[in-house]
Amino acid sequence: MTNSELAQMHWQHHLLSSIEVGIIVLNHDFVVEVWNQFMENHSDILPSGICGTSLFEHFPEIDEKWLRAKADPVFTLSSPVFLIWEQRPYLFKFGSNRPITSDSEFMFQNVTMFPLTSPSGNVEKMCLMIYDVTDQALSKRRVERLNEELKIMSRIDGLTGLYNRRYWQERFDMKFKLAKRRDKPVTAMMLDIDHFKKVNDTYGHQAGDRVIQALANVIKCSVRETDLAGRYGGEEFAIVLTDTDAKNAHTVAERIRSAAEATTVAHDGNNISFTVSLGLSEYGDHCQSAMEWLELADQALYDAKVSGRNQIIAKNLPD
Ligand code: GH3
Ligand code: MG
Ligand code: MG
Repeated sequence: MTNSELAQMHWQHHLLSSIEVGIIVLNHDFVVEVWNQFMENHSDILPSGICGTSLFEHFPEIDEKWLRAKADPVFTLSSPVFLIWEQRPYLFKFGSNRPITSDSEFMFQNVTMFPLTSPSGNVEKMCLMIYDVTDQALSKRRVERLNEELKIMSRIDGLTGLYNRRYWQERFDMKFKLAKRRDKPVTAMMLDIDHFKKVNDTYGHQAGDRVIQALANVIKCSVRETDLAGRYGGEEFAIVLTDTDAKNAHTVAERIRSAAEATTVAHDGNNISFTVSLGLSEYGDHCQSAMEWLELADQALYDAKVSGRNQIIAKNLPD
């Protein structure tokens, strides 16, 4: 070997060692021929400990059948293959060297596998490049999680924790479509606090807010998870009772009515009591649209108000 060849080998070795990417060269049998510093640092396996042996001997967590199938186009078609973290978080299970605050215990990796050909064009070996994409993956996951939280927040009413009107309406439209297809009873309920203006005027708006929250809690305790409860307006709530006919809905309504009546809200030294009026409407063929269905429950609520409040009225057919 000439001096210049030796010098070239030296800097090439230096290059392989310094690069912050894993470089592995494998032959057709997945026997390791090159294992650079990056791989040594993260696996704690020296090149002398792995070169000349099968990769799979050292990494039993790698699914051999899967990797051989993935690498097939490299050897047979001489084409590169990419493995991305979104499909499989990593090929080699390396610890993450992020700060302790990081929520990842392992290094996310993108992997490129490409052919190394002989001068005659035969694919003799395969090179694997392992990229540490932990930062990228974590920030993408954080953004996704944040988006998910935002989506949930945009559906929930801040004061009561129930669905807000926009989302409730969206879901109600789906309930209506389902009601048309299914042969199961389903009842819409609207309720409104009686003389609520008086609560605000007597005890203040904040006290009014506590009363709204107290009623929301009564509702949460009275309905099932499959029911759809939302804050429809200021002190007005709408609920869809799944698999429930008007008679059973009346039982639920009475539970809410009596629980509301029995509730006292302590605020600024005052014990505030309140009552609610409720309107019910079971779905039927006469409901041409979701709005029409809800309109009937609203009319029933109105009737409950004019008949003296603190009561339940059911309306199943239009007048
Ligand atoms: P009715 O028995 O006929 O329902 O009488 P009401 O006084 O309750 O009348 P209405 O339902 O029209 O009253 C709505 C009042 O609710 C008017 C408004 O000031 C108050 N309100 C609406 N949203 C809120 C809110 O978020 N917090 C508080 N404290 N008050 C609200
Ligand atoms: Mg009211
Ligand atoms: Mg109202």
